[in-house]
Amino acid sequence: MEKHIVLLPGDGIGPEVTKAAKSVLQAVAERYQHSFTFESHDIGGVAIDNHETPLPEDTVKAAKKADAIFLGAVGGPKWDELPGHMRPEKGLLGIRKQLGLFANLRPVKAFQQLLHASPLKQEVVAASDLLIVRELTGGLYFGEPRERRNNGKSVVDTLAYDRREMERIVDRAFQSAQVRRKHVTSVDKANVLESSRMWREVVEEKKHQYPDVRVEHMLVDAAAMKLVTNPAYFDVIVTENMFGDILSDEASVLTGSLGMLPSASLNESGVGLYEPVHGSAPDIAGQDKANPLASILSVAMMLKHSFGMEEEAEQVEAAVQEVLDEGYHTADINLVRGTVVNGSDLARRVVDQISTSDTTENIMRCYV
Ligand code: ATP
Ligand code: MG
Repeated sequence: MEKHIVLLPGDGIGPEVTKAAKSVLQAVAERYQHSFTFESHDIGGVAIDNHETPLPEDTVKAAKKADAIFLGAVGGPKWDELPGHMRPEKGLLGIRKQLGLFANLRPVKAFQQLLHASPLKQEVVAASDLLIVRELTGGLYFGEPRERRNNGKSVVDTLAYDRREMERIVDRAFQSAQVRRKHVTSVDKANVLESSRMWREVVEEKKHQYPDVRVEHMLVDAAAMKLVTNPAYFDVIVTENMFGDILSDEASVLTGSLGMLPSASLNESGVGLYEPVHGSAPDIAGQDKANPLASILSVAMMLKHSFGMEEEAEQVEAAVQEVLDEGYHTADINLVRGTVVNGSDLARRVVDQISTSDTTENIMRCYV
């Protein structure tokens, strides 16, 4: 198959992990005789430096024509003092909005080899396998007005959704649950927020279209607690933009590191942007310390969701698993055993596995 992939490396460790993602895509192309072509564009801080905007027109144009997009990370202290509309994060929010990437899928499952890397009890972590479906183009991140008032003495942000935005993300969650364990937990704050009360109504209406799926409502504070006390309780969590952001960073504790969590952001026509859940990690940028596995697993999601390449995706997951089995990991993984290697070294080992291994047996198959 021929596929054109747009790479948006961005800032901080973004370029390092994007390089790893690209090398894995190239290894897959070679092994399975696909033709993948690549095109890189600026986004975030680097785009501000080069084009005086966090989201250049060229970047949007290229992304709109791509078969899939890979994004590293944006932001960093260098751009912290800029006014709101010139912040690197506006590049990321902008591309999500422009491409209509409303559904953010964040699978969370710990690799067997990393169970001890979590501060939580091993048996608690081992039993967990969940998918967070986060609404990505609405809510507090986009609502207007958002401004200081009364000479800086007060401030307002706006949590806004229309019913259709809620319906499509809830549909997506039910569909994901149908191919998983058929259990949806809808997370909100309906005891306080009007938007949450409407969210509940939408879920209650929608559930009749998915009679095979069990659904319940949970307040976000209760969900936050359950996520670390009994994560195995969850199958699919569906929630609005900000709750999803917070809960998925929390859920990363299960996997041993933020550097392990992949994500896919999809629009209604199935075009996807794939990115690690972590940020630009300025504290370790340029030192070859970044864990590339969140990005490599995001590539597995790309292969599956955007290209329909199931076997290739499984091959990538199997390669990651094999390298972890051999005891290799980056320094963010808190394990006494094993060998700590650089990010580029770890990525190269995954690439070697993809090129040489002859089996995809016994793999987790969790990134659906
Ligand atoms: P953002 O605001 O973009 O979400 P953040 O504030 O959540 O970013 P990150 O940039 O994700 O922060 O970093 C949080 C911590 O996790 C930092 O200490 C960083 O070094 C570490 N970290 C994040 N990603 C990785 C990675 N891939 N490998 C190793 N460490 C990482
Ligand atoms: Mg974060």
